[in-house]
Amino acid sequence: EPSLENAPRGSRYNPTGKTFNRNKDDNIDKQRKSRYNPSPLTEEEKYKLWIKQLSDLERKLKKYGWDHLSHKDQDELGLKRELIELYEQRKRDDVDGFKLGHVEINSDNKDNNSTREKQNKKNDDKRTRQQMWEEQQMGYAVTKANIDEIYLPESEKYDYVFDQEATIDFTNDSNDVLADSNEEEEESSEEEDEEKKMLLTQLESEATRIKNIGESRRLLPVYAYRSELMYAIKESQALIIVGETGSGKTTQLPQYLVEDGYTEGGKYQIAVTQPRRVAAMSVATRVSDEMNVVLGTEVGYSIRFDEKTTPGKTILKYMTDGMLLREVLTDPELSKYSCIMIDEAHERTLATDVLLGLLKNIMKQRKSLKLLISSATVNAKKFSVFFGDCPIFNVPGRRYPVDIHYTLQPEGNYINAAITTIFQIHTTQALKGDILLFLTGQEEIENTKEKIEEIASKLGSRIPQLLITPIFANLPQEQQANIFQKTPEKCRKVVLATNIAETSLTIDGIKYVIDPGFVKENSYIPSTGMTQLLTIPCSKASVDQRAGRAGRVGPGKCFRLFTKYSYENELEAMPRPEIVRTNLSNTVLLLLSLNVKDLLNFPFLDPPQISTLTKSLENLYILGALNSKGQITELGKMMCEFPCEPEFAKVLHSAATHPKAGGVLEQCLSIVSMFHETTSIFIGNKKEATSHIVSDISSDHLLYLKIYEDWVSSNYSRPWCQDHRIQYRTMLRVRNIRNQLNRCCVKLGLSTINASFNGDAQMGENVMIAKLTKSFISGFPLNIVKLTSGGYQTIGKSKGGLSVTIHPSSVIFQNQKEKGKKLEKFILYQQLMLTSKEFVRDCLPIPNNLWLTEMVPQVFDNVI
Ligand code: ADP
Ligand code: MG
Repeated sequence: EPSLENAPRGSRYNPTGKTFNRNKDDNIDKQRKSRYNPSPLTEEEKYKLWIKQLSDLERKLKKYGWDHLSHKDQDELGLKRELIELYEQRKRDDVDGFKLGHVEINSDNKDNNSTREKQNKKNDDKRTRQQMWEEQQMGYAVTKANIDEIYLPESEKYDYVFDQEATIDFTNDSNDVLADSNEEEEESSEEEDEEKKMLLTQLESEATRIKNIGESRRLLPVYAYRSELMYAIKESQALIIVGETGSGKTTQLPQYLVEDGYTEGGKYQIAVTQPRRVAAMSVATRVSDEMNVVLGTEVGYSIRFDEKTTPGKTILKYMTDGMLLREVLTDPELSKYSCIMIDEAHERTLATDVLLGLLKNIMKQRKSLKLLISSATVNAKKFSVFFGDCPIFNVPGRRYPVDIHYTLQPEGNYINAAITTIFQIHTTQALKGDILLFLTGQEEIENTKEKIEEIASKLGSRIPQLLITPIFANLPQEQQANIFQKTPEKCRKVVLATNIAETSLTIDGIKYVIDPGFVKENSYIPSTGMTQLLTIPCSKASVDQRAGRAGRVGPGKCFRLFTKYSYENELEAMPRPEIVRTNLSNTVLLLLSLNVKDLLNFPFLDPPQISTLTKSLENLYILGALNSKGQITELGKMMCEFPCEPEFAKVLHSAATHPKAGGVLEQCLSIVSMFHETTSIFIGNKKEATSHIVSDISSDHLLYLKIYEDWVSSNYSRPWCQDHRIQYRTMLRVRNIRNQLNRCCVKLGLSTINASFNGDAQMGENVMIAKLTKSFISGFPLNIVKLTSGGYQTIGKSKGGLSVTIHPSSVIFQNQKEKGKKLEKFILYQQLMLTSKEFVRDCLPIPNNLWLTEMVPQVFDNVI
């Protein structure tokens, strides 16, 4: 098994351990250069670059002395001296080649000198070969965009996907026996000053931690290409970086930029975008660790409703792509950044796509702005073409072979199949080797976790311990670190992840991947104006990427819970970019407020469907964000200022200012804030928790309001949350969201108008509920279902509506099923989910039809 520890230097990226024939490789090198690589740096140029870098380092060395150089500088110094020496040696070799060869042939000459010379020559040769290999790799690293494929050096030698068996059964082999464990614990020595001892160990562990971090940084694939990368960045305004997941793109590149002075001593910042909140936070935490600074000072993060940065101090900011997009609103040229890295661009989130389009223009105005786009292998060329054929830098990664196993028959219940597979692996495969299971969402992850733990506890001590660690977008921050924790001895970690673990986060130690092959995807249907959250089969690109996660530390195995036939014939090649399958109202509003008038000619990487754009304009018109000429209104501009969806902004606006609804801003602020966290409010199941709080309530909206208000009355108490089975931390987040939304309302003057409604009279409960319901109608006029003879149906304009069912978690469902309450003719919902049925969640009954026409006559005049 190739292992990093005992691999010789230079072979880190060559797990086959195969050495290279110099002449042959020279030829390959030439061929490839001519086909793929117009070689941005000649040997000679590289040599000059090294000389310059070395002299800088020597100067530093002279000034500060060896011990005061950073590890990085020490390393660089050694490396550059070596590289230069090798280059010079090779130049000499080329001249002296013939002579040396001659000496070798006459090896019967027992002259001492020439033997040593021969010996030297041999050593040099060996080093030169390694050197050759490294240089060759570096040569491939930068390729121009006009290529027909991206070439990963040597990839053909350790092609990572190959089928060995088409079954999920795997045989026992000799090393499957679970290791016996009877390590003896070392006894602690005599009495000593306890505290001093503790401090010392703390100090030691901190020192090793820092040392380890430094070492692991130097082991990452990008480290070997540092100078070349920085050179490429210097030479080109935009650069695409392609590399295997885990090679260090996200954590290392931004640090190199800082180290090389791109922030000009704090004058500029560097922004790195992530499609996911968890990734932004977790990576920022890691990088602040690596840079040995407190998170939120030099290194920070910014995600919606949660910003950890220090103005004037933060130079490196990890943020969601959505947050950077919002910054364009206030700073259209993104002038505080000298470099922007759009990470995980292959994910093609809506925000990333829009940002790329905007950046294309910004870069024309700010020539000094550097743009890095990092991506998995797929898509790189597309990005390059988009940015005027900018270069693609290819960081050769390391990946070990992964055996792919398929099921023989399609699996009816993939959760059960996955759990069985986990225990199959756990009981037959030796430790170490952690398991990564891809699931589609939080609920599924939590249920699966429960089931696994139940089985594990039944098996008790007959199996080694299992450590189940979930990871999904809404996972509370304090639990996020768990997935990176080293797996304890005699224990196996099982990571249950959404496809956040597909590329954004790299978890070390994974040897087995279980892939049911499903993903949750938003799908917007312009004709009905509805967004459905569908669980759909993954694309081929996704499942291949997932399989690769098993091959990072050593050879691994991937168990696909679908058939080989399905892989080969049924899966789509690529996931669909979000822009072609989502509601674009927010985006259209944002672009309009940025004065992008010609939406059809905006540089989109993939243009959205015209029908979706039209529908967005229509929606925005209904919300009052656009006037009948399609121009943005004052209200529309206001909606943009809110850090939430325009629909919620409209709710707040009506609750504060509408003649028929005004005066309930405070209540709506609480509800809207709660809606941002509905997935993690309750401990355990919602129904159970609800019964602790209230016995009679008419809607989910009022339930959330009641929870929030009761918590406020308890003085934000933690015990109150525990007693009522509510997650305290979630409530803290809700309070924080509420504060931010409130600040926005104050700033826009909405709070003042709201106050003028209340006067001194106390509003009655029924009036309050009516106003609140009206406010939500004005924000979500299209999320309304109507009771017909066939149950509830959505209000489709042209076609008849879609039949929906009220989700059992809704208060309305419980009221009807258990208390026999009559159903209202109209219900407003916040979420429509397509699972086994079309479910609507978080519902608000509308007891009076006239409220609909009163609030949104454009829509309801001809429906009712
Ligand atoms: P890439 O962006 O190329 O996929 P990263 O820079 O994310 O690579 O990861 C580089 C290395 O840093 C990986 O080995 C990964 O395990 C490690 N790493 C990243 N984030 C963390 C973290 N929060 N804790 C511990 N290790 C981490
Ligand atoms: Mg990354």
